[in-house]
Amino acid sequence: MAYTAEIIGVGTELLLGNIANTDAQDVSRALSELGINVYFHTVVGDNPDRLKQAVDIARSRADIIITTGGLGPTCDDLTKQTLAEAFGKKLIFNEDVAEKIRDFFSNRLHNMQMTENNLQQAYLPEGCVIFDNGVGTAPGCAFEVDGKHVLMLPGPPTECRAMLENCAVPYLRKLSDEKIHSHNIHIFGLGESAVEAQLADMMNAMENPTLAPYAKDSEVLLRLTAKAATKEAADEMMAPVLKKIEGMFGDVIYGIDTDSLENTVIGLLKQRRLTLAVAESCTGGLLAKRLTDIPGASQVFYGGAVTYSTRSKTSVLGVDEALIRERGVVSREVAEAMATAVRMKFGADLGVGITGIAGPDSDESGLEPGTVFVALAAGDSIFCRSLHLLFDRGRVRTAASSHALDMLRRHLTGKPV
Ligand code: ATP
Ligand code: MG
Repeated sequence: MAYTAEIIGVGTELLLGNIANTDAQDVSRALSELGINVYFHTVVGDNPDRLKQAVDIARSRADIIITTGGLGPTCDDLTKQTLAEAFGKKLIFNEDVAEKIRDFFSNRLHNMQMTENNLQQAYLPEGCVIFDNGVGTAPGCAFEVDGKHVLMLPGPPTECRAMLENCAVPYLRKLSDEKIHSHNIHIFGLGESAVEAQLADMMNAMENPTLAPYAKDSEVLLRLTAKAATKEAADEMMAPVLKKIEGMFGDVIYGIDTDSLENTVIGLLKQRRLTLAVAESCTGGLLAKRLTDIPGASQVFYGGAVTYSTRSKTSVLGVDEALIRERGVVSREVAEAMATAVRMKFGADLGVGITGIAGPDSDESGLEPGTVFVALAAGDSIFCRSLHLLFDRGRVRTAASSHALDMLRRHLTGKPV
């Protein structure tokens, strides 16, 4: 049976819009990976009566209640008291926890004065599992009453995240003997709605495994998830679905359970023992940045030139001035000339050239923003994509660099570029 959970964010500053509820995002993400269904996010201010109301509602509709915030030493930190009372538990002073808090003040905070109210944090619900706070002072905790599990995590995001990972996830994992296993299918070259349209009937009919698409930086991630007693059983359930999806989408799938397009490209270059150099205009070095994000890229990536002006395209790369005048600086011919030139300058096997208009305004030639040419020079071949990207400046640049990576991975795997 799958557990259901509700997350209650405690803090008036959340209701006032002073901060975003990132703790709920972190907790939700972790629960989804555990296969626990999150049906509700609730936010309530630092007010014990309203927190009590929220808890009563949550326990009527969820197996697991996770609170964030309000564990600290100040008078508005009421989560522990309120939750303990709601579930009929006494708060008991824990000497070990108190000692840790004293320690934290004398060692980590260099003898910063500890006030008595800091020891409030050493009062914990009777019989609870204590969640150590490796980052701050307030411990979290978990207890069970009548089959309902209550977990309390601190508000500060770094503390919440650390406790989630180190304490809450292991606690929750023990509740269920089912294992969750998933495959991430990475797609470039089809939009989320196109992917979803092709899969809609199939997705609706699926229960276990399940399939869900996510859009991310001009890519689509399809996550296939199965619940089963063992990883092997989960894999067996997913295999036929995976095969079907591969059949449906073919070579727009650039990887399964890989990290990223750039990671895929670096891996392929290493495999094929080929080297790469890039010349970038409108992406301003983003492609080089993405490639060098991958450790060990230096084996195959020789470098790049950000030639942002017409002048640097001629003076640094040696692109013919007359060609730029005739064809325009944003043109197929100039992208190709950049790719060929940078490959020669760096003595690399492959060269990429990118020129375009990131927007928001069009250039003096009247080309629309989002017009980008991406060229790849490889051996005697030259390939060029002419793109019309209807995005804002940031996404145009990301998409243009992704297209360059996609052309590379296609060329390197012998697929049509
Ligand atoms: P402290 O010991 O710092 O008092 P706490 O567990 O009592 O921690 P709160 O007092 O509720 O937590 O919040 C501390 C800080 O953590 C807030 O000022 C806010 O910046 C951040 N915070 C609280 N809740 C959230 C949340 N849901 N998402 C993101 N940040 C949060
Ligand atoms: Mg607080």
